[in-house]
Amino acid sequence: MRDSYGRTIDYLRVSVTDRCNLRCIYCMPESGIPHIDHSAILRLEEIQCLVELIHEALTLRKIRITGGEPLVRRGIVSLVKGISPLAETVMTTNGILFPENAADLRAAGLSRVNISVDSLKDEVIRKVTRRDVTLNMIEKAIEAAKENSLDPIKLNCVVLKGVNFGELSDMIRWAEDMGTTMRFIEHMPMTGSVCSYVPRDEILREISAGMGQAEQIATEGTADMYVTDSGIKFGIIAPVAGGMCANCTRLRLTAEGELLPCLAGGESLNLRDMLRSGSSESEIISAVRDLVAKKPHHGACGGVSMWRIGG
Ligand code: SAM
Ligand code: SF4
Repeated sequence: MRDSYGRTIDYLRVSVTDRCNLRCIYCMPESGIPHIDHSAILRLEEIQCLVELIHEALTLRKIRITGGEPLVRRGIVSLVKGISPLAETVMTTNGILFPENAADLRAAGLSRVNISVDSLKDEVIRKVTRRDVTLNMIEKAIEAAKENSLDPIKLNCVVLKGVNFGELSDMIRWAEDMGTTMRFIEHMPMTGSVCSYVPRDEILREISAGMGQAEQIATEGTADMYVTDSGIKFGIIAPVAGGMCANCTRLRLTAEGELLPCLAGGESLNLRDMLRSGSSESEIISAVRDLVAKKPHHGACGGVSMWRIGG
């Protein structure tokens, strides 16, 4: 379905849990997230039902399973099996639990995976995730994705001054060696965040200083894709610097069943309450269509809780 800005809204990101096995400094407070009552979180059958209705309303092209960490949600493989016949089904994960789940996810119909990696140095990865995570664990996740043909694999890195800013060129080369593509994400400010924001232009300057002038070659969804002098591709996702809204085809369903047309705020729809209060399928479908028709176009994204919304 097209919205009032002529964008075809056909990409649904589903946060299946607000829980996570890591505590990344740019995403969650060290103490974890505020406790949400279990009953407020959608059951797997409810997620399945709402995704089917949203698909009926919009005709989805792609569904991304995210979180929190999607692989900490019990029953995730059967959810993937249930929704993958509807549209291309992909996942964003921190990779920790991925190797033991990769084959089952593939068999359930998952087609691709994005894996988060914020440094090549174990001590920096530990500092960012606030957990005992190593590069080797992330490399095992990448290998598992390759072995199960879950590719192309995209790697997501949130750029943080004083943390990983000096490693960007090395990460691009390492990702190429691993047979994957590195994508750098501008840090989006959150309440109480301990990280400073590095704008797209500064990220590009740093990479050009390390690898020579990079040339923009394409836009893939919300990522601007570049190629280095030596022919290696990488991406930059710049929600804060702006320019993403014109190509934004996304809707987000939170673990609590709220349908959000935009990260920067505005109107949303509580589908959990509609479902639990007995709204009919046609009422839900038409409410989704009404919301999508009003999807905003701000120019840039604002402060959010990523573990809630799913990035
Ligand atoms: N746990 C999974 C992971 O980390 O890949 C999926 C959920 S995570 C919220 C989805 C994406 O959001 C990750 O790539 C993460 O790096 C990104 N993210 C989290 N907090 C962010 C922030 N404050 N600014 C920009 N990206 C952020
Ligand atoms: Fe967890 Fe992903 Fe947030 Fe890190 S970015 S705390 S892995 S949800």
